[in-house]
Amino acid sequence: MSLFVQKYGGTSVGSFDRIEAVADGIARTVREGHKTVVVLSAMAGETNRLLELASLVSAQPDQRELDMLVSTGEQISIALMAMALHKRGVQAVSLLGFQVGIHTDGHHGRAEIQSVEQQRLERCLDAGQVPIVAGFQGVSPDGEVTTLGRGGSDTTAVALAAALGADECQIFTDVEGVYTTDPRIEPKARKMSHITFEEMLELASLGAKVLQMRSVEFAGRHQVPLRVLSSFKEGEGTLIDYDGRCHSGNCVTGIAYSREEASLTLTGLVDEAGVAAALFSPLADAKIAVDMIVQAGAGEGRVDLTFTVPRGDLPLARSVIEPLMERFGARELIETCDICKVSVVGASMTHHTSVAKQMFEVLGREGIKIHLIATSEIKISVAIDEKYLELAVRSLHSSFGLGED
Ligand code: ADP
Ligand code: ASP
Ligand code: MG
Repeated sequence: MSLFVQKYGGTSVGSFDRIEAVADGIARTVREGHKTVVVLSAMAGETNRLLELASLVSAQPDQRELDMLVSTGEQISIALMAMALHKRGVQAVSLLGFQVGIHTDGHHGRAEIQSVEQQRLERCLDAGQVPIVAGFQGVSPDGEVTTLGRGGSDTTAVALAAALGADECQIFTDVEGVYTTDPRIEPKARKMSHITFEEMLELASLGAKVLQMRSVEFAGRHQVPLRVLSSFKEGEGTLIDYDGRCHSGNCVTGIAYSREEASLTLTGLVDEAGVAAALFSPLADAKIAVDMIVQAGAGEGRVDLTFTVPRGDLPLARSVIEPLMERFGARELIETCDICKVSVVGASMTHHTSVAKQMFEVLGREGIKIHLIATSEIKISVAIDEKYLELAVRSLHSSFGLGED
C-alpha cells in the first residue's frame, strides 16, 4: 500500500464534468488500496474573479481581507469534491488549511509554510477517509487566514507530502508533464520523462508556471518524490530527479518565459558605497523578488540603476523606492511595464560558452532588441519587449533543437 498526495489544479476541477472525472480518478486510486490525500485549487478562473471583486470595492484592498476573500475559492472546490466522492461510496472529508494545521508566517498574500501538523490527516487516513485539503492557504501565528501566492496549491501538496512522508506527490494539471517549453506557445514542445531538480527549479523560478517555484524548493529541501502529470489523459508524466544527472543530452533543456515583468530605472544616483544595499534591502524586506539588475555610469560621479520586478509588485516597489530617492540624489524614476523575460535553461550549460552567443544571434536575426541580460551557471535570461515573446520562445526552441523530430 502506498501513500499518495494528489493535487489537482484549477482547470482540472474547472467544471462539474471535470469534478466528476477527477472524483472517478481518486476513487480508482482508493480502490486500488492506496492511502490518498487530495489537495485542490479553486475552480479555474475563480481566484481571478475574487481578485476582480476586491478591485471593484477598493483600489488597495487590505491584505488580510484579501486573503479572507481569495481563500474561499478552494473551500468551494473541496466541498464539491467531497460530495462527488461520497456519491461514489468513498469516505472523504474536506479540510481548510487551519483545520489541517498548515502553519505559515504572517505575510498575507505570499505567506510561507513553516510547519504542517500530521495528526488530523493521519487520523483521517487511519479511519479510511480521504482528506480533501484546500490548497493555497494556511494559518498565521496570530490565527489569521493566509494565502501562499499564485499557484500556491502546488506548495501545499508538496508540504503535505513531506510531512506525511508520502511515496509520491502527484501534481495533476492540464498538460501531460513538464515540456521543453510551454506547449501552449510552442506546439512542437516535447514532454520530458525526467528533469533534474536543478533544472526544474530554474524553469519554475523563471516563469514556467507548471509548478510554483516554492513547491520545487520545498520538494528539494525534503527530497519529496515529485511527479507532474495530466488529469485529462493517462500517462507517466514527468518525474523530478534528485540525482543531478542530466537527461536531455542537449546543453539547453528548456525555454521559460515570464510575461509579468516590469522594470524600474533610477537615474543619476550618487555613485557611493552602500547605495545598492540601502535600496535593495527594503525591497527584500517587502518580499519583492528583484531579478535582473544593471548599473551603468552616467558621468559626474553618478550612475543609472535599472532592475526588474514582477509586474504585480510594481506599485509596492515604487512605494518602497520613492521615499529613498532624495537621499541618494536620484533624478528620475522611470517605469516600464511592457517587457517580458525569456530564458534558456540547461544543467550542462556551464560547459558550453556558445549558448549565449547563439541566443543573442537568434534574437538579433529576428530583430528583437535586448534590454537586460542576466546569467547564472544554468540559465541565460533576457528582458525584451513583450510583443516579441512568442517569436523569441519559438525561435530559440527551434534553434536549440528542442522540438519533436
Ligand atoms: P494548474 O491550474 O493545474 O495549477 P497551471 O496553469 O498553474 O495549472 O500550470 C500549467 C500550465 O503551465 C500549462 O497549461 C502550460 O501552459 C504552462 N507551462 C509553462 N511552461 C511549461 C512547461 N515547460 N511545461 C509544461 N507546462 C508549462
Ligand atoms: N487558486 C490559486 C491560484 O489561482 C492557487 C492555485 O491554483 O494553486 O493561484
Ligand atoms: Mg498552477
